[in-house]
Amino acid sequence: MTAAGHPGGGPRWVTIGSGPPAVERSAASAPGGCAGGGCAAPPTAAPDAPPSATGAAGTGAAGTGAAGTGAAGTGMELTVLYRGPLASCDYDCPYCPFAKRRDSTDQLRADRTALERFADWAGQQTGDHLSLLFTPWGEGLVRSWYRRTLTELSRLPHIRRVAIQTNLSCRPEWLADADLDTLALWCTFHPGQTPYDRFVAKCRRLSELGVRHSVGVVGLPEHLPDARRLRADLPDHVYLWINAAEGHRYTDAEAEQWTELDPLFRYSRHPHTSAGRPCRTGESVISVDGDGTVRRCHFVPEPLGNLYDGGYRAALRPRACPSAVCDCHIGYVHLETLPLYDVFAGGVLERIPADW
Ligand code: SF4
Ligand code: SF4
Repeated sequence: MTAAGHPGGGPRWVTIGSGPPAVERSAASAPGGCAGGGCAAPPTAAPDAPPSATGAAGTGAAGTGAAGTGAAGTGMELTVLYRGPLASCDYDCPYCPFAKRRDSTDQLRADRTALERFADWAGQQTGDHLSLLFTPWGEGLVRSWYRRTLTELSRLPHIRRVAIQTNLSCRPEWLADADLDTLALWCTFHPGQTPYDRFVAKCRRLSELGVRHSVGVVGLPEHLPDARRLRADLPDHVYLWINAAEGHRYTDAEAEQWTELDPLFRYSRHPHTSAGRPCRTGESVISVDGDGTVRRCHFVPEPLGNLYDGGYRAALRPRACPSAVCDCHIGYVHLETLPLYDVFAGGVLERIPADW
């Protein structure tokens, strides 16, 4: 899912501004919102645009909301979205376009090696401050190497935040070894994949352990009863987000129902027009795959360089978005034309509003 709970499925109408639907986007290029996986990557060619002329260079660490340099050099604030080759999941959500693969032993070994290489790199960047979000195609926390890596990274002083999108299927006890001032979870409930009571019990355990976390649901009509139960059963201090479902258009009345549960649903309801608009990705935010290939985000395929030879660094600069729209939270949260670094200050990566 787009950051937990991929609303896969068919095409979704994209509404530009407040006008009528103007663009039809395929699910392949549209992010969903997956607990396990991240937004769908749109590896269709999309040339990068020249530096934005709109000013307002995007800076700041997404994990903290603190201002940073946002440019190559020492002591920069860098947000990294990591997505390795892992593609299997212990769930089988009907709306998920990913995670339908059963990873072989060799594929799992490759994922572990890639993750450990990335963690080594992150551990060595002591001259910078890093905020890290893991957005696997599948479910990472059922694999010991994800749990261990997050725990170890959380203890490093130059790591401001380390977070992961998860379906919360694993037992939360591993979190007791992590630095909970740094580690956070983006959790998605998938009705039909796990009993409601079991999921809620795990959320309660997260609260007992003092783990920062958000909880979300894909806004399909059949999920509304469970989403209402969740909002009623979760502690007030736990933010419940709702992701607009792929292929679903919301009437104002429907949107109001979801907004009663998530007052920020308006940001997810429609894709955001992004072409030519300044976005922090490619400057203070990057996406990295298992090979170390750096892109500005999960949705723009042009490489900026490689993480491990340092070649990406010289490419970091203010950039305009080359795509028509951006409709995944893990993407548009970095758009400078939206106020979401303020709305989610201190919790951009784990999707927790500042005033929650
Ligand atoms: S199958 Fe797994 S990765 Fe896909 S939406 Fe469900 S929990 Fe997320
Ligand atoms: S708005 Fe930013 S994150 Fe979204 S597609 Fe454009 S460059 Fe990527």
